[in-house]
Amino acid sequence: MSIFHRPEEKRYLARLSATLSETKEDLSHRIRQVLGTEKSRITGKQIDALEEVLLTSDIGIETTLNVIQKVREEFGGQRSITSFELKRTLREELLRILESPDEDKAPKGSLRVILVVGVNGVGKTSTVAKLAHRFTRDGHKVLISASDTFRAAAIEQLEIWAERVDCQLVKQGMGADPAAVLFDALVASRARGIEVLIVDTAGRLHNNSNLMMELEKMERVAAREVVGAPHETLLVLDATTGQNGLVQARRFASVVSVSGVVITKLDGSAKGGIVVSIAKKLGLPIKFVGVGEGVDDLIPFSPKSFVDAMLFEDSEKIEL
Ligand code: GDP
Ligand code: GDP
Ligand code: MG
Repeated sequence: MSIFHRPEEKRYLARLSATLSETKEDLSHRIRQVLGTEKSRITGKQIDALEEVLLTSDIGIETTLNVIQKVREEFGGQRSITSFELKRTLREELLRILESPDEDKAPKGSLRVILVVGVNGVGKTSTVAKLAHRFTRDGHKVLISASDTFRAAAIEQLEIWAERVDCQLVKQGMGADPAAVLFDALVASRARGIEVLIVDTAGRLHNNSNLMMELEKMERVAAREVVGAPHETLLVLDATTGQNGLVQARRFASVVSVSGVVITKLDGSAKGGIVVSIAKKLGLPIKFVGVGEGVDDLIPFSPKSFVDAMLFEDSEKIEL
């Protein structure tokens, strides 16, 4: 079990459900249009129509084809199925894509280092702050390394966040070597008994190879100073940029060893399907989703909660 996950509360599930309500409404509505009510029996022709619905739902072509094939194999010719049964098959298929082993690389009680990477504007700095908030709220000593030294505003932005979420910050001036800032932060973490060090990084694209070299260097510095560090490297992707994000994601994944993905701005995309598509294409576990700009707007990703919130009405969940 990852340290990111805590027992889910109703409030958190409600938040997820609210964020995905448009996706659900859209999917449920269209599935109902094609298949009739939850209990009506469906035919082969309707499955073709369903294929069309899924293809335009952002969950991706491959996933759709798999689901449809599975539905045909399972139910084709033998007997008719209900729309509810079909959604349950769809659910299983989506879970197969989203579920992944949840391991924690950091030994208990030692300093945990979390590197946060991604291109400009996706929500790295906000995610750093939200993560810091989660950990401080849970009683951990947290320090943030301001390793985006490219923009002065980035350091100031982090200072405001650090104050707001009540955690420590290590910074240098604009233009400093990000790995040097990280080194300072690692030394400070040890001296101050810090439990979680979260590292903000730059994301500029125009000088990509330089950025990638900096990230590699930060990874090296962390590994040299702390056993097994970075224990997590989170790649932040913006849900609203859709498929473009994947190209960038692969670029990052080829340089640093990304352990998981954070998908931000899910509140502004109304397309929950994109999460499935990203998980499928990258083959990386989704660790969090961002659902707003506040410090509490980061939800630990649970495949089951997510898929259920996307596909099922509250009344249906009882029967699963
Ligand atoms: P960075 O450049 O990657 O560090 O991105 P920032 O953390 O500075 O965020 C860029 C913008 O996206 C800011 O205006 C954030 O408030 C906003 N943002 C980040 N995460 C979310 C999210 O989950 N939902 C929404 N609606 N906005 C977000
Ligand atoms: P507190 O307000 O600092 O006491 O922290 P809470 O435990 O009450 O949670 C604050 C917010 O974190 C809630 O509004 C939830 O939306 C959000 N949250 C996200 N994921 C979780 C989770 O796994 N557990 C809890 N408790 N809250 C979560
Ligand atoms: Mg930033």
